[in-house]
Amino acid sequence: MTQYIADPISRKSIRVLTGMLRKVVDLDDEGYFPVMEYFELVLPQIDPLFEYEIVPIQYMKEYGITYPEKNLIRLREDVYEKAVSGIARDRFTVAHEIGHYFLHKPGSIALARARNVDIDRIPAYQNPEWQANTFAGELLAPSHIVRGLSIKEIAMNCGVSLDVARIQLKNS
Ligand SMILES: [Zn+2]
Repeated sequence: MTQYIADPISRKSIRVLTGMLRKVVDLDDEGYFPVMEYFELVLPQIDPLFEYEIVPIQYMKEYGITYPEKNLIRLREDVYEKAVSGIARDRFTVAHEIGHYFLHKPGSIALARARNVDIDRIPAYQNPEWQANTFAGELLAPSHIVRGLSIKEIAMNCGVSLDVARIQLKNS
């Protein structure tokens, strides 16, 4: 697998972006972010070039892949279906791919192939996977919503896993 290194971006900057994306659809104070409605109905309105494909499980081993330069997100069929039915892990996957879509478009944050670079030595904020995970956490469970709640309450209210709830609470 090719490792990539991205331009640095902090959690704080990612939070500004996810906050804006929630605000344009009037969902700033919504505990449960409707990520699939966002994916299927809102994204095409925000970006008319956006396309998605649902790929049968036998043709795809990854949960999802984003091709920012083609304005395309591919989701594996079972992941799509589980996300629609509200499974936390799959909701997170879709939010993660939306993160790649917004963060790693050509002309926004550049991605470069990290040649001869030890991936463990790339700072987290330059790791595109950290960036997409942080985007997903901030989109699904923003700090102003998780503050004052328990980890379990966050997981329930926001439709995220306990791990994501814990990370978001720690960073709130
Ligand atoms: Zn990713």
